[in-house]
Amino acid sequence: MIPTADQFDLVIIGGGPGGYSAALYAASAGVEVALVEFDALGGTCLNRGCIPAKAFLETAAVHRHVAHAADFGIDAGSPAVNFAVTQERKNKIVAGLVGGIGAMCKGRKVEVFNGTGSLGADHVVTVTAPDGSTTQITGTDVILAAGSVPRLIPGFERGGPILTSDEVLDLDHVPARMAVIGGGAIGCEFASAFADLGSKVTILEGLPKILPGLDNDLANVVVRSFKRKQIDIRTGVMVNGHTPNDAGGTTVHFGDGEDLEVDAVVVSVGRRPYADKLGLDGTGVKVDERGFVVVDELCRTGEDGVYAIGDLINTPQLAHVGYAEAILAVKQTLGERVVPVMYDRVPWAIYSDPEVAWAGPDEAAAKAAGYDVVVSKHPFKFNSRAQILGTTEGLCKVIAEKGPDGRAGRVLGVHMVGPWVTEQLSGGYLAVNWEATVDEIAEFIQPHPSLTELFGETVLSLTGRNFNG
Ligand SMILES: Cc1cc2nc3c(=O)[nH]c(=O)nc-3n(C[C@H](O)[C@H](O)[C@H](O)COP(=O)(O)OP(=O)(O)OC[C@H]3O[C@@H](n4cnc5c(N)ncnc54)[C@H](O)[C@@H]3O)c2cc1C
Repeated sequence: MIPTADQFDLVIIGGGPGGYSAALYAASAGVEVALVEFDALGGTCLNRGCIPAKAFLETAAVHRHVAHAADFGIDAGSPAVNFAVTQERKNKIVAGLVGGIGAMCKGRKVEVFNGTGSLGADHVVTVTAPDGSTTQITGTDVILAAGSVPRLIPGFERGGPILTSDEVLDLDHVPARMAVIGGGAIGCEFASAFADLGSKVTILEGLPKILPGLDNDLANVVVRSFKRKQIDIRTGVMVNGHTPNDAGGTTVHFGDGEDLEVDAVVVSVGRRPYADKLGLDGTGVKVDERGFVVVDELCRTGEDGVYAIGDLINTPQLAHVGYAEAILAVKQTLGERVVPVMYDRVPWAIYSDPEVAWAGPDEAAAKAAGYDVVVSKHPFKFNSRAQILGTTEGLCKVIAEKGPDGRAGRVLGVHMVGPWVTEQLSGGYLAVNWEATVDEIAEFIQPHPSLTELFGETVLSLTGRNFNG
């Protein structure tokens, strides 16, 4: 068939981390790509997620540093927040990164269609532009990367003091009192940032603990630190509704008749896949009862040549998982050999203060999976760099498989909480995914003085010898 203007090697619906990385990766391999996005390129991550949330957290970190400047011999007075500047800075970072993706798409000749893409039979994608006009394009292969949107809870519709992660990132002030409903990663990041910026924060979590799924030793460090920030953590409580007041705030009703008056409520109870506008009539693509597009372990949908990646499928909702799935899908369109993403070993990172990062199972999960384990834990308290930074809270915990000789063998999981651990995880991630043994990793040298010495030291202990006990 002679290619026509509306025909591409690859059509991608959704311009978030999954979609744009698929587009750029494919284009770098010489593939002719169309990318369909109805909103800004960059998706949730750049516009309403990872990037703006971390920009707020960095402002919170600067506030903390200035508040403790006197400890370092610097007289800086007490810090005051100018949130308009915080917003301006965040918006500039976002605009720069979004613009960068647009420029890279242009540079690699990815054709970006501004509109809503819906997939029909025979790989035909109908793009409906904001003015209602439609264009039809066809891809030899198609990748669905429509992402996710915040989950809502009945009785807490957005508007006024009720915010989701979308709206909290657009606040023009720091609310004096804030309730965060949901103590997962996103909820804890907002709780941490706003508590550091001066809000009186209460976390309302239905489960028995915040950050469920996190290793207990790590979760305890976060809870202790949050309590020091005066964050009130209420676990095992369900919210029942709220009554707005005339001052623009509201009273949240929760638990057994308890009330909490606040100026803002952040509803942070997870995200749902957003297949709403994908069409899919006449295709073999299936959507499950929770709204996820159904795929096999290679991100293939029920329709030949149609893949689905990122938050749209039931895999960890992380931007970098979307990147990995993008590469997996594109390689298959190129006829290349692939292996499935090992979802139980991906890196996880929470950018609260203190930060949390891990790869591989925690101690309980490793035992539940049937492993006989040897565990080593070392605190940042004795790490020289942590003392220099003035942030000694946290620890590194390494879980290794016990060998037949009773010694620690293969590294199963590396779990960290404390200063800059999100930047330190890569060594642990490599160890876990390389299936390295404790003896192998212990041969490697860590720079001194550095925070990563703690990982080296924790692994060294598992060999049966160590420097620091
Ligand atoms: C507050 C917050 C903080 C986060 N922090 C982190 C973090 O630190 N690290 C991390 O890894 N992850 C983080 N995440 C999660 C991360 O943002 C998502 O995992 C990631 O954005 C998913 O990428 P995606 O491409 O699958 O979907 P999305 O980023 O949601 O992008 C999907 C895109 O598709 C578009 N779209 C949808 N339907 C159509 C259609 N029919 N036609 C055209 N376009 C369509 C949407 O407009 C959107 O731009 C965070 C999320 C939030 C909310």
